[in-house]
Amino acid sequence: MGMKINLKEICDTLNRVGIRPTHQRIEIMKYLVKHRVHPTAEMIYTELKTAIPTFSKTTVYNTLKLLEEKGVILALATDEDQVRYEADLSPHGHFKCVRCGELFDVGIPEMVSPALEIEGNLVLEYQVLVKGVCRQCRTTAETNGD
Ligand SMILES: [Zn+2]
Ligand SMILES: [Zn+2]
Repeated sequence: MGMKINLKEICDTLNRVGIRPTHQRIEIMKYLVKHRVHPTAEMIYTELKTAIPTFSKTTVYNTLKLLEEKGVILALATDEDQVRYEADLSPHGHFKCVRCGELFDVGIPEMVSPALEIEGNLVLEYQVLVKGVCRQCRTTAETNGD
């Protein structure tokens, strides 16, 4: 899968919503486009600070908040108290494995598009979180007789 990183596209996206494309903001966007694992702010911070030691946790949290407010990224509420982020704005659902904890993208048929209405209520955002046992864990369970 993996989306190709287009630096110009990232800068254009940020400029379009009035966010100045600073080095740190671009790095965070690049990370989200490249790593489609729906990372938490903590994960992003840990990964980026090894490459860029000047990164502060506050910068990461503030940037993610700003990007989300401007609609450039999505914040996903999972059942844990952690927020996960992603840059893929196309309509899709999420599958959360109750065994390995992985959260990955799944296609959900007949998704409600933003700006549609449900019973007279305007839809701005629509999140689908499916919980279950992922393919990988099912295979492992069968092998182990679990
Ligand atoms: Zn699993
Ligand atoms: Zn996703």
